[in-house]
Amino acid sequence: MDPEQQQPSGKELRSLFLRHLAQTSPEPLGLEIVRAEGAYLYDAQGKEYLDLIGGISVCNTGHRHPRVVAAIKEQADRYLHVLVYGEMIQSPQVRYAALLAANLPPSLNSVYFTNSGAEAVEGAMKLAKRVTGRTEIVAFRRSYHGSTQGALSVMGDEYWRNAYRPLLPGIWHEEFNSPAALERITDRTACVIVEAVQGEAGVLVPESGWLRSLRCACDAAGALLILDEIQTGFGRTGSLWAFTGIGIVPDILLLGKALGGGMPLGAFIAGRETMQALTEAPVLGHITTFGGHPVSCAAGLASLEVLLEEGLIGQVGYKSTLFREGLRHPAIKAVRHCGLLIAVELENAGAARLVIDRCIRRGLLTDWFLFAPQCLRIAPPLTVGEEEIRKACAIIAESLAG
Ligand code: PLP
Repeated sequence: MDPEQQQPSGKELRSLFLRHLAQTSPEPLGLEIVRAEGAYLYDAQGKEYLDLIGGISVCNTGHRHPRVVAAIKEQADRYLHVLVYGEMIQSPQVRYAALLAANLPPSLNSVYFTNSGAEAVEGAMKLAKRVTGRTEIVAFRRSYHGSTQGALSVMGDEYWRNAYRPLLPGIWHEEFNSPAALERITDRTACVIVEAVQGEAGVLVPESGWLRSLRCACDAAGALLILDEIQTGFGRTGSLWAFTGIGIVPDILLLGKALGGGMPLGAFIAGRETMQALTEAPVLGHITTFGGHPVSCAAGLASLEVLLEEGLIGQVGYKSTLFREGLRHPAIKAVRHCGLLIAVELENAGAARLVIDRCIRRGLLTDWFLFAPQCLRIAPPLTVGEEEIRKACAIIAESLAG
């Protein structure tokens, strides 16, 4: 008998999913995806979905890019996990860290690989406290940095935070993109943590002058600037990093999502001397068993090579324009964008929910944003083609009509 036929599927699999997988929402999407390729997902009934959210800004080089899959297979044939982070010389980790450093300013030359974005946030906040000997942290309203307790403490929305108190003390939440926020940065501040673009707020792009002022205020106060590029990194905004061109260099850069090419991986990146604080007193200042898994690093390395070699980042601006030209409709209140990170604002959350459901029925996968449920999320693989963009805009227009 075909082993596939012995696997639960259809209704039985759905029932096992609801019974045995911890549920985080009362109405999960519940699509049974059996295959993914490029900009498409395929369900068990053979229906295709054009993926406008790319695993939430993860699949920048598309689902299962052949070079990424080949790198995963090659590494799986060599070794999987060998030992906790940092002891063994594992070629995929080292080569990936070196390639990242080669594509970052010289002061960001030491990479600590984690399993996820939130863990990178945790490590970075610990590092800032350790380096400065201070405890206060300045964060921003409507920011999202992850769901672990430290990351939740700096998240900028009381509704999502409140149920989990007490959280970390000494956190100030200031208005994003506001000059008044700078006054909160003092000689008690260990670090300021800020997104290059606030994704979950519905794509809020700060003025570059404000980010430069933040950099100056950190320098004046001796605080570290932590820049969260977990969602904006790897070409999403039209340059490899969103901070390129703004004229600032963070003390600690946070990466995740697309970093692993579709495999779980996060990183906090700082200067070698700063990072040295995790080496002594206490030794093993930050520990992870699986962080920087060799298969994830091999996948991420291949994916970054694809981004650097296949000209995808250069096309982001044009593709973003195509989306915006195709998304003109009286029911659309606003379109905010930074490259291929786009929020399409509708009347309210109910209207967005309806359109999302209709799009999915028509084979287009879109979503909402955590702090902007009235917006449709557009963050497709950067490999998305012109025809697919036109098709996506047409389906959204149809779904706005009914
Ligand atoms: N920071 C930002 C800006 C994010 O968008 C996310 C995830 O959505 C995170 C941090 C947390 O990453 P992870 O879900 O991998 O823990």
